[in-house]
Amino acid sequence: MTSSVFAAERLLFTPTTPDTDAIHTIFAFPNEYTVGITSLGYQVVWATLAMRSDVQVSRLFTDTHEQLPRKPELLGFSVSWELDYVNILNLLESLEIPIRTNARDDNHPIVFGGGPVLTANPEPFADFFDVILLGDGEILLGNFIEAYKQVRNADRQTQLKALAQVPGIYVPSLYEVEYLASDGAVKLIQPISPDIPAVVQKQTYRGNVLSASTVVTEKAAWENIYMVEVVRSCPEMCRFCLASYLTLPFRTASVEASLIPAIEKGLSVTNRLGLLGASVTQHPEFEALLDYISQPKYDDVRLSIASVRTNTVTVQLARTLAKRDTKSLTIAVESGSEKVRQIINKKLHNDEIIQAAVNAKAGGLSSLKLYGMVGIPGEEPEDLDATVAMMLDVKKAAFGLRLTLGCSTFVPKAHTPFQWLGVNPQAEKRLQFLQKKLKPQGIDFRPESYNWSIIQALLSRGDRRLSQLLELTRDFGDSLGSYKRAFKQLKGQIPDLDFYVHANWSTDQVLPWNHLQGPLPQSTLLKHLADATSHFDSTQKELQPLNS
Ligand code: SF4
Repeated sequence: MTSSVFAAERLLFTPTTPDTDAIHTIFAFPNEYTVGITSLGYQVVWATLAMRSDVQVSRLFTDTHEQLPRKPELLGFSVSWELDYVNILNLLESLEIPIRTNARDDNHPIVFGGGPVLTANPEPFADFFDVILLGDGEILLGNFIEAYKQVRNADRQTQLKALAQVPGIYVPSLYEVEYLASDGAVKLIQPISPDIPAVVQKQTYRGNVLSASTVVTEKAAWENIYMVEVVRSCPEMCRFCLASYLTLPFRTASVEASLIPAIEKGLSVTNRLGLLGASVTQHPEFEALLDYISQPKYDDVRLSIASVRTNTVTVQLARTLAKRDTKSLTIAVESGSEKVRQIINKKLHNDEIIQAAVNAKAGGLSSLKLYGMVGIPGEEPEDLDATVAMMLDVKKAAFGLRLTLGCSTFVPKAHTPFQWLGVNPQAEKRLQFLQKKLKPQGIDFRPESYNWSIIQALLSRGDRRLSQLLELTRDFGDSLGSYKRAFKQLKGQIPDLDFYVHANWSTDQVLPWNHLQGPLPQSTLLKHLADATSHFDSTQKELQPLNS
């Protein structure tokens, strides 16, 4: 398998021959090759490293790898999914590297990580990484390698202290955390010495050339897809949304300097094009881009669009997609209740959702997937009735269009205004309610697992004490039951599941990521939170976080 998957790759960049003293680096994706090679972030970082003559990079996945150096100096992980931490620990073990940073010595590589999971809240994984890169790779990667070269021959502690001086490079072991009690909240997070920055600022790339695939392969999860990043972040700022808040400001790729050259290059080797970004149709020149792709020479191109804002679903867009082999479209509506949409700052009305469905049908699409969420703070049972009613209205207005409602549970995410709010324990029942109401109406309802949402919430609001729990969970078999068993075993030593997942946290509480600065100051997040809670009904006021 090893040679065949790499042999099937068509590279869109030219790797450089490494210098004789190049830094031996393993760059890993903690999942199978098909998943990892479909990650645009992974592709771009790997290609960036492979084009440097001072780095000799080898790729590692859970099921295959290139030839690995015997003594790597750097080992990197691109982390896109929280639950892949199990694979990170397994890969470290397979490379005979201690899984905890404090057990590593000068003979071990510097283990670094980046990607959305670690940028949002690295704390549950902090004890496993020597270095975490916070923010956009365009800026961080080069600075990291250059800084490492300056201390390449120094001892490990000197290396780590030097790296910690680089903006956006977080060295968790150089920060100590105190807790109010062993099972209480964080009391204080501070650097272990005054020469280490007290706060690490996430780095933001501001150029107008965004990412595009560096490799196309039939072995990718999306076979032969060429991906182009059209926008980064989203200006809508729905209050639960990590994809918006963590990556602000909203940036758009230049059509002339970034998108057209990239698309031309990609479509010379494949006919499958993916337009990526949290809010693709909000690119100010999206129509010009669609016109460009509509040229006759691209008639056989299959087009996928990652995300479409509901009120940008025009008949023309639906027609273009239908012609390009896309039969279905997904739009995020979150809820059928206007009140809930005000709480989350979703600037969308039911008539726009209905219009989107009508346009999708008129343009020739055969199905429409709506994406919703239950357990949004301030949501009450009647808000679910509103969602059911909206779905029925959509069905009536666009009769014949296959309708699906995918539905997740609200999970609080660090650096968003809802970071202080817990998961509603009623959410599971609410998913069941929607199922019961929609199925008999011929509307396909696809809930996401409530239990996994609980684990996601645990990891997204977790602190460093969870590293013990994660190790135990892995030993217990990495099932949902394993988490419960691990909590039981650690009772009294760490807070319980309820604290991390369901509790509303005081806005005065020191957050586990207090020392890691995202794009917006806490005061802005608090203003958004106050605006959200102002829409709560009076009976819901107890849902607000307590100010001490
Ligand atoms: S529109 Fe979508 S991507 Fe943008 S902030 Fe809202 S949920 Fe996030």
